[in-house]
Amino acid sequence: MAYLFAPFVTSLPIAGSALRFPLRRVWCIGRNYADHVKEMGQAALPQAPVIFGKPADAVVAEGGAIPFPCATVDLHHEVELVVAIGQDGFRIAPEAALQHVYGYAVGIDFTRRDLQQAAKARGEPWETAKSFDRSAPVGVIQPASACGHPASGAIHLSVNGKLRQQGDLAQMIWRVPALIAQVSRLFELHAGDLLFTGTPAGVGAVVAGDRLEAEIEGVGTLAVTLTAP
Ligand code: MN
Repeated sequence: MAYLFAPFVTSLPIAGSALRFPLRRVWCIGRNYADHVKEMGQAALPQAPVIFGKPADAVVAEGGAIPFPCATVDLHHEVELVVAIGQDGFRIAPEAALQHVYGYAVGIDFTRRDLQQAAKARGEPWETAKSFDRSAPVGVIQPASACGHPASGAIHLSVNGKLRQQGDLAQMIWRVPALIAQVSRLFELHAGDLLFTGTPAGVGAVVAGDRLEAEIEGVGTLAVTLTAP
């Protein structure tokens, strides 16, 4: 088959491998840590996970220098455990969910909070706030064969050396198996899909020039420097 122009493939490095992980789709979970739900002004915990998506080409492999995005004056960081799906599945049972996981990485779900607040107020979808270019830096994938399936461990993010977000994977309202089960009831999961699993409390604004450093115990690190727009 010949293409009119070269297909665009986004991929992530895999620790200890020369192979790269080709990306297919990016699913994201909102409101999955109680302390973050509270800081966003929601009184009650959600009855089901909030699910939204980003295009795969919003992923910036290994972070690095990212230009400050357009159309916002309130860009927020959200550090998240990212699950890399390695096996297709639909209506996956929680007990079988981890068989579909290839590995894990550290990600940042950048959010144009001003656009999100406006969208929420108007009852509109979140694409303009969440699905913009370069909104999803993700670090190196650690295969589960090496790091296991982390159900607990420190997750934190600092800006210019100052700690902003600090939590533990054990604080997730819905753990990874439950999230995979929930998402796969609505969408067919495919090898190459990523699943962002929500962020702990401490989200906040960043500006051009800021350096963000994120780490998840047992999974890895991710650093981003926001450059001039
Ligand atoms: Mn998020």
